[in-house]
Amino acid sequence: MEKVNYCTSCGVHLSDKGFARFACPECDTELGRCIKCRQQSNNYVCPKCGFMGP
Ligand SMILES: [Zn+2]
Ligand SMILES: [Zn+2]
Repeated sequence: MEKVNYCTSCGVHLSDKGFARFACPECDTELGRCIKCRQQSNNYVCPKCGFMGP
């Protein structure tokens, strides 16, 4: 499985602390979120299956 290096929501590079990696609930693809998108609860869309979630 590829490591996710970019925020799935806004595309920022995940280099700072505080970001989260997690598996898509639908297809287990690894997704990433930066701390900003976590705080703002921005939507993300899984690039593989199109699942959208907060
Ligand atoms: Zn982000
Ligand atoms: Zn998915």
